[in-house]
Amino acid sequence: SRVRVPLGRREADGTVAALAAKSDFAGRLRPVSSVAPGPPALTPALVRLGLWMADYYLAPPGLCFRTMLPPGIRGTADPGRDGFARERFVRRVRGAPEPETARQKEILSRLGEEGELLSGFLRAWGVSPETVRKMAAAGLVAIEERVRRRDPLAGRRIAPSSPLELNADQRAALGKIVAALPPDGDPRPVLLHGVTASGKTEVYLQAIAETLRLGYGAIVLVPEISLTPQTIRRFVSRFGGVVAVLHSRLGRGERHDEWRRLRSGEARVAVGPRSALFAPVEKLGLVVVDEEHEPSYKQDETPRYHARDVAAVLARFAGCAAVFGSATPSLESWRNARSGKYALCSMPRRATAFQLPSTTVVDMRAEPARGGAGPGAIFSETLVQAIRRRLECGEQTMLFLNRRGWAPRVGCPACGREETCDNCSVAMTYHRDDGVLRCHVCGAWRPVPARCPDCGEEGYRLAGVGTQRVETAARALFPRAKIDRMDLDVTTRKRSHEEILAAFRAGKTDILVGTQMIAKGLDFPNVTLAGILNADSGLAIPDFRAAERTFQLVAQMAGRAGRGGRPGDVIVQTRSPGVPAIRLAAAGDYAAFAEAEMREREELFYPPFTRFCIVTFRGTVREAVEAYAARFADAVGRGDPRWILGDPVPAAVERANGAWRFQITLRGEDSRLLHERLRAAFAVLTPPGDIVAAADVDALC
Ligand code: ADP
Ligand code: ZN
Repeated sequence: SRVRVPLGRREADGTVAALAAKSDFAGRLRPVSSVAPGPPALTPALVRLGLWMADYYLAPPGLCFRTMLPPGIRGTADPGRDGFARERFVRRVRGAPEPETARQKEILSRLGEEGELLSGFLRAWGVSPETVRKMAAAGLVAIEERVRRRDPLAGRRIAPSSPLELNADQRAALGKIVAALPPDGDPRPVLLHGVTASGKTEVYLQAIAETLRLGYGAIVLVPEISLTPQTIRRFVSRFGGVVAVLHSRLGRGERHDEWRRLRSGEARVAVGPRSALFAPVEKLGLVVVDEEHEPSYKQDETPRYHARDVAAVLARFAGCAAVFGSATPSLESWRNARSGKYALCSMPRRATAFQLPSTTVVDMRAEPARGGAGPGAIFSETLVQAIRRRLECGEQTMLFLNRRGWAPRVGCPACGREETCDNCSVAMTYHRDDGVLRCHVCGAWRPVPARCPDCGEEGYRLAGVGTQRVETAARALFPRAKIDRMDLDVTTRKRSHEEILAAFRAGKTDILVGTQMIAKGLDFPNVTLAGILNADSGLAIPDFRAAERTFQLVAQMAGRAGRGGRPGDVIVQTRSPGVPAIRLAAAGDYAAFAEAEMREREELFYPPFTRFCIVTFRGTVREAVEAYAARFADAVGRGDPRWILGDPVPAAVERANGAWRFQITLRGEDSRLLHERLRAAFAVLTPPGDIVAAADVDALC
């Protein structure tokens, strides 16, 4: 239960996880101030899960419980407010006395016993509130408050859909999932490795149908970015009103009401991002985590939980089935499937008659420059020809680049000065729309200097390529094409996601340029060409998962092309065509990539062969932060062969929002031991000054 309790002189929100017969607190105990109305916010399984998260992710339990509840539920310990919206209705009273006047009689004749919205009724018939009040006093009509459901899908017409006839691979996958359903299913999570468009979603839908038929509910997690109206529609069209949609773009009221519909049992299927894992589904039978490899399943603030991993724990606690689906499983899940900890199903073919697209890798070192000068070449000859062919026959192209803005770096060709953010240590990006430099970490901006502030050199250089520059170059190369762009700059300031995608779907756009946003889960039948402009840019980052991320990206973009009737092409531009991540992704050979990458990880003692934790230290005085990080490392224990402890190093973004950041990494095979060492260090040290230390267990870099 959510409660409000006195804490010193103020009041605080808290969660009651269990009741004790007596307290071992020696001081005076004070009573709870108030208890949130309605049923307890968390089910027993969720309380257990919250305590598990607190323990595993080294986070305060109160913060874990808070994380598990949507904003509209979190702070409702106020007994007067239960979070529902109410409206006043007026209705005719059955067996009421005779009306006194003709006017009253007339009004009554227009009113049914089921009632109408009061404000609407007054307006429609020109009745004054005073008249209705009098009639209510005379017992002719009743005025009552009713809960108004704030429905995120209100006004959308969604036609019902029926199950498709499954192919052999899908039937086998469905069989494995059904065999894991409660009451006495195989408790192992199922890893569903299916290429894009192999029909994984259809398998989820039929597994959910079976779950419901057995009297259980289900949770489906989808990465936030793939939670498009198109995705939601697929679930609602199959299951209608038993689906509750939970995501952060909904209003607070809508989230509250959807959550309540699950809590009351009216809705049985929750669909949402990471946090929907904590949806209060009664009698949970199935948890699906789609695109299980997505980094967005990891929360980037305390508690830093990974929804897929927590889903596996929830499935154990709730005794339900878990399904993790992906075209490019994380190596963690792949290893679990190989070792038998997970059950594995493969769907290597597309469900529709259409083949996977054919992929061409273009070596940019050898291509004649096009659309840009020298090493800045943006389009290869191969890509230009391929786009031309699409434009000629009215087919669509998607161009992917993982940098937004115009140019990633701005610097002085004479003295080498680079424009970096004053608050953060990252390079500023030039944005041509408004002609300013922006920091992608804190959002700070400033104009581009006309000359170098250090040496006076005129002609500041714009280096590298961002989405804006690609858009402009494409307009120059294909002047008659309709070109659009989707990245964070567009969607936060000008047009929504949906708007851009709707225009693309309607064929108002020939070429869509974008960042990660266009790579994920979109299904446009008329897209026959996907271009990846700089596939190797992700390989240079200091992250042991860089190759895995690059593989996923190329495979994902390949999944975007050729989903309709015509075959698709994928063109991958790179300056390192030989690396396995690019070569094997182009060949669509996940298993070979996974094997090669696993060998490397094992040799280097990285996950999935070890557990990997990062402790980050933040504070305003650089030396103090670094010194404290070193003391923390000492407390963890150096030189023990059972773990590898890194020296304090500046974080990837050393300075963010004015604070200096250092980190240490800790990895080892025995996760219990790592937990114990971290806990010990937190217990013996108290950070001085404004320094804050936070652990990230199973960190993604
Ligand atoms: P995934 O989730 O693996 O990307 P989807 O479930 O979205 O794949 O399926 C891709 C396309 O194939 C969709 O248009 C879907 O309607 C279609 N599809 C899926 N299963 C079948 C099937 N058994 N028969 C015919 N079409 C199917
Ligand atoms: Zn900044």
